[in-house]
Amino acid sequence: MTDFQHNHLRQRIERILPTVVKPGRYVGGELNQVIKDWESVRTHLALVFPDIYDLGHSNLGLAILYDLLNQRSDVLAERAYSPWIDMEAALREADIPLFSLESKRPLSEFDIIGVSLPYETLFTNFLNILDLSQIPIFSKDRGDHHPLIIAGGQSVYNPEPVAPFVDAFVIGEGEEAMLDVVDVHQAWVSANQTRGELLIHLAEIPGVYVPSLYQVDYAPDGTPLPVTPLHLAASVPVTKRIMAELPQPLTKFLVPNVEVVQERVNIEIMRGCTRGCRFCHAGMVNRPIRERPLEEILESLRAGLDQTGYEEVSLLSLSSSDYTEIVPLIESLRELLCERQVNISLPSLRIESFSEPLMDQLQTLSPGGGFTLAPEAGTERLRNIINKPISDQELMETVRSIFEHGWNSIKLYFMIGHPQETMEDVAAIAELSKTILQEGKRIVGGRARLHVGVSTFIPKPHTPFQWATFDHTQSIEAKLALLHDGLHGSKIKMTWNDPQASLLEAWLSRGDRRMANVIYHAWQNGARFDAWSEHFNIDLWRQAFEQAQLDPDFYTKRAKDLDETLPWDHINAGVRKSFLQRDYKWSLEGQIRPDCRQNCYACGILSDFSELRLTAPNGGWKCP
Ligand code: SF4
Repeated sequence: MTDFQHNHLRQRIERILPTVVKPGRYVGGELNQVIKDWESVRTHLALVFPDIYDLGHSNLGLAILYDLLNQRSDVLAERAYSPWIDMEAALREADIPLFSLESKRPLSEFDIIGVSLPYETLFTNFLNILDLSQIPIFSKDRGDHHPLIIAGGQSVYNPEPVAPFVDAFVIGEGEEAMLDVVDVHQAWVSANQTRGELLIHLAEIPGVYVPSLYQVDYAPDGTPLPVTPLHLAASVPVTKRIMAELPQPLTKFLVPNVEVVQERVNIEIMRGCTRGCRFCHAGMVNRPIRERPLEEILESLRAGLDQTGYEEVSLLSLSSSDYTEIVPLIESLRELLCERQVNISLPSLRIESFSEPLMDQLQTLSPGGGFTLAPEAGTERLRNIINKPISDQELMETVRSIFEHGWNSIKLYFMIGHPQETMEDVAAIAELSKTILQEGKRIVGGRARLHVGVSTFIPKPHTPFQWATFDHTQSIEAKLALLHDGLHGSKIKMTWNDPQASLLEAWLSRGDRRMANVIYHAWQNGARFDAWSEHFNIDLWRQAFEQAQLDPDFYTKRAKDLDETLPWDHINAGVRKSFLQRDYKWSLEGQIRPDCRQNCYACGILSDFSELRLTAPNGGWKCP
């Protein structure tokens, strides 16, 4: 694009901005934004989050990649997000291609587009971004001049539903892998080779999956057969990429000019979890546990607060109270946060690792607010089946301690639709919640508040429950009605996920490569922002299944055979299928599997990553 064309495009963009809501979403210009001279770098990379800026801006994964890639002098990394409905209409009407925030260059001008797909309900937005960027939707239709489309994030541990739209996936942690992708791309440009040769070189990078190098076939009963590699570079399985230790914390914190969903300094204190909850995808695919040194956390938080002026910090991990030095960390933080009058949010404290010293520390930092606990099931029996072995007594002791330490409100997370769940288990959620509120009233009186959040269990890939079925939506609705009745008159606030939205997530997370046709048709039918209840429309998806001639129930209502090939079997998430099979069988007997920090069960991580582990600083992994 010539400078003249570029300037003309910028002028056209400026003409439509006043016509849309919150134009600040599209202009960039934030404090700490990185602007580089387009001609001075070898690789132009666009980092894309397929939802609006307000949500995507706070995505830590993308912020880390932006920071890391821009530290290289030969790379320029810029950002783009999904335009909201009004901006999409304005772009289409004015025939303006989707552009990046920093330079306002069309995404089609970039060499590489890295798309973050943390959850499946972003898939139609991803297709919409390709279309608005005037880039062919299907990978097979792209030529040498088109950008390379790379996707990563938690949802691509089953990459098949979006495989035809993506040139290559980064399975696992992207920090080092994306730098390797840049190096391979630069070598390809210098070698003046074809796009096909680029894809082969990419497949040679550990953790990179190039779907076009694999053939997928199906058995007469419709189940997938093991994939067939079409090239030597196409390894089976593709083993996820992980880092020996956590990546360096952010050095530059982007400060938005418009209001975003999370206005706080986020720091990842630990990656991975070994509690082994059988429904938990994140807990299985993010192993092993790696902790960030305490001093590094404090340093990064200081830098973040200095750079942003934010009034809140968040310590991120899957189970922060399992962080080995959680009490000394909170102690060290107290001085830093009190002198700056900054609040702390500590998501995911586990009931099992609660301690009085931790409560005492937290009490000094943010008393009076709310506390979140996740028992996930109403009875001890079902909690053992899902491997969240918390006794009612332990739960009540934790609740008592929270109210006694000055907190007035508790949020409880439950799931319905678990394998082997009975209506008695569901009714127990209401009874348990009422008992907890009663206890709260006994300790803090009428100030006691209880909020119950109910989500629907989805049997996710790479978990022990991947063979289970998704509960019928009628059954889910009956269980929700039972909970409403059970909590009626109790002053307990209950919120719940729309069962239809959970059904969509179940289809998309358990799909095989044929699901791509469903996604394509749904997008053509107008599906966008499926993660937003006001935009989600299940009928567009049911229509899409018909158009794709696929039976939706095949993906949710059919119990899978333990030995059948699964659509994601050629992706190694580090935890072996044999380990998951054993654990599934244990769940059928209600047998629990205690945290493996004390006693390793050889899930597969150590054997697949034994060499990498040796490079981890002072035994950084929490595998015994
Ligand atoms: S290797 Fe052992 S200790 Fe490490 S995550 Fe797996 S089961 Fe747990």
